[in-house]
Amino acid sequence: MTTRLLHSLADTLDLAVVLPPAGLELHMVAIHEAGHAVAAVELNIPVSDVTVTRHNGGVVMLASNPRGTKDVVVSLAGPIAESILLQSYQIALDVLVVGCELDIRDAWQSTAGSRGRRVAHFIRLYEATRRLVTQRWPAVLELAGHLVERRFMPANEVYAVLRAEPTEITWFLEPFERAKG
Ligand SMILES: [Zn+2]
Repeated sequence: MTTRLLHSLADTLDLAVVLPPAGLELHMVAIHEAGHAVAAVELNIPVSDVTVTRHNGGVVMLASNPRGTKDVVVSLAGPIAESILLQSYQIALDVLVVGCELDIRDAWQSTAGSRGRRVAHFIRLYEATRRLVTQRWPAVLELAGHLVERRFMPANEVYAVLRAEPTEITWFLEPFERAKG
């Protein structure tokens, strides 16, 4: 059911659906959660903490539940961060990575109106979220690097990383460059 939704939205958005690269699951979870967290902070939704695990994925705890447009943007920012990372290092296509079904479903359910209007609204918000994540990409990478090392970050550490000047976390990107060959 959710997989069908993933494929139908991928068709609508003209995206390819791909599997996460083998062996890089933790990196993918970290960039995904960093995408959610940075989008929430950009929209002034306070982040309480962020957790990543290799096998069970991750979670960003927010101090309040975003609604409507903000919920769509925060939900899409995780899958989009994964897409941008893979697009930079593996494939030239804009993609959705298998495993993002729940976020895509949440985002879709937060749109309203007739189907045609919902699709148009969803596409606009997808593009806006992509611009937001792209603009904040150094911060997303930086936070993802810290998440791979720390696995759990409380709010004060998340905000400290996002306020600081991003360092170049080259070790985070190296395995993707190797995978590219
Ligand atoms: Zn997510």
